[in-house]
Amino acid sequence: MKKLVLLCIMAASMNMANAQEPETVITYAAGDFLISILSEGGNRGNAGSLQGATEEQLKKYLPDGTFPLETQVFLVRTKDKNILIDTGHGKNLFKNLQSLGVDESQINVILLTHLHGDHIGGMLRDGKAAFPNAEVYLSQAEHDYWTGLAERGEAAGKALAPYKDRLRLFTPAAPGETSPELLPGIQALAAYGHTPGHTAFLIRSDDSKWLIWGDVIHAAPIQMPCPEVALSFDVNPEQAINTRKSMLEYAVQHRITVGGMHIPFPAAGKVAKGKEGYVFSPLCFCEGI
Ligand SMILES: [Zn+2]
Repeated sequence: MKKLVLLCIMAASMNMANAQEPETVITYAAGDFLISILSEGGNRGNAGSLQGATEEQLKKYLPDGTFPLETQVFLVRTKDKNILIDTGHGKNLFKNLQSLGVDESQINVILLTHLHGDHIGGMLRDGKAAFPNAEVYLSQAEHDYWTGLAERGEAAGKALAPYKDRLRLFTPAAPGETSPELLPGIQALAAYGHTPGHTAFLIRSDDSKWLIWGDVIHAAPIQMPCPEVALSFDVNPEQAINTRKSMLEYAVQHRITVGGMHIPFPAAGKVAKGKEGYVFSPLCFCEGI
């Protein structure tokens, strides 16, 4: 009897643990492609890291002085390629890939939006390339900026070093310009400002279009309605503001699904014009497959 009670308690506590465990992976169909969002987890960002917000805007959109700040990785599976967009902190990434049945050796391509630590943290494992068969695509401007910075470029240099023979540098198209495809169904768009070579990726399959825009938005609750609010660690805040405005406008005009690395999970949705600025509506978990 005692044994039975103990088993029941154990089962109940395991269920509770499962119930409390947040979802960390979701997959949506996009034409012939599958796009998965892999959560690296998150925390709260502090309003002190924002620049240019008025007292009134802060009170209205961030009443407790904080905002959700998560990190995501995107996995795009086409007919013949497994493509990672960024690698997050490298915290839940490997476990999340495993849950999708994707082995690190099966990643063919890594597209990097930029070289901040929360985007290249999963490039290495035990000091070696975590993705032994992946080609790495990076904008020329981003590469040149970080390799030109002795100390600050050290982490970026280390993350890229084992991939140096399969590094593909490119120049993304400016918004509105037609850009050649980097890979079938994938184009790169210049989204400069947060960093000098920050890049967004436009993904098309059949009628489905996604814009995975890296760090165009960090503090969604305030930067969607007020895209003129910048971040103190944007390398060029003014350029970052212009990029944010043009990317939001592009998403509205093309009725495109956007995905952002710091938008709360599931981190993808539609953008519409709001009374003030823009409004973001996340995709439903129920649309996940
Ligand atoms: Zn980031």
